[in-house]
Amino acid sequence: AEDDGSGRGFAQRAKILASGKSVIDEDDLDDHLDDLELALLSSDVEMGVAGEILEGVKENLVGETRRRLSSTGNLVRDAVREALYDVISVGQFDFEERVAEADKPVVIIFTGVNGVGKTTTIAKLSQYLEERGLSSVLANGDTYRAGANEQLQKHADNLDRTLISHEQGSDPAAVVYDAVEYAEANDVDVVLGDTAGRLHTSDDLMAQLEKIDRVVDPDMTIFVDEAVAGQDAVNRAREFNDASAIDGAILTKADADSQGGAAISVAHVTGKPILFLGTGQGYDDIERFDPEEVVDRLFE
Ligand code: GDP
Repeated sequence: AEDDGSGRGFAQRAKILASGKSVIDEDDLDDHLDDLELALLSSDVEMGVAGEILEGVKENLVGETRRRLSSTGNLVRDAVREALYDVISVGQFDFEERVAEADKPVVIIFTGVNGVGKTTTIAKLSQYLEERGLSSVLANGDTYRAGANEQLQKHADNLDRTLISHEQGSDPAAVVYDAVEYAEANDVDVVLGDTAGRLHTSDDLMAQLEKIDRVVDPDMTIFVDEAVAGQDAVNRAREFNDASAIDGAILTKADADSQGGAAISVAHVTGKPILFLGTGQGYDDIERFDPEEVVDRLFE
């Protein structure tokens, strides 16, 4: 029998043909994957992440058989869609349920660099929890940056919450510890703890986050970054997740980014779920992350 390059014997090929299916051709596959790669990159998916996802799809599809009537294009699209969904829905859990079911007070620590919207996000979540019948106290674990207490105090005043803070330069773990004690004494359900976005060195920052972990054993650590930060957000997600394992991420400024690529990249490099999207400057501008919606948008 002639060799068709597929590495399959005549009998096997005959069987595939008889079953009304054909083998997927690698060149044909590559053309479609190249198109999809461009689409992912233009949606701000990080290049390495896009490459890895598409490589996985290719490995699964090459040499597979397909029904003769379905085009390779559709098949590849469906496979990529599925792969993206797998990445972006990684580890999704019901945030409200987890908070509701945990022993009180529930301690949630927020990490991420300054300026991405971390304090605003903490305030938004405080409001979000209040709307669901859960009280919260804010704790300023960013004792490094001048003005951090005032920044969080403004939100606390606006929302009528208590802020626990110590003077600049003091131990952040002690601040969060005090907030936990305050919550226990005052029947507050949730402690929302901010942390420094930057210290003298990243080793200092890691040591600080580790100490908070050790002293208060948080129920959740959430990494906050901007949906619009592209590659920077991906690098920071990796770094912060290494410094202090995160349970999930919140991407802010999603109102300025309709693409959703950052969500895919951050979920991929951390293996942790995106929990919420920030969608504006108001306290109500926070939405539960919906993996399906983001994948749909990528394929619009
Ligand atoms: P932090 O330094 O990380 O705590 O940053 P802030 O919380 O002070 O936020 C920095 C700026 O980003 C402020 O002007 C916020 O109003 C704005 N911001 C925060 N979240 C969002 C969001 O989801 N969408 C938009 N458009 N702006 C946001």
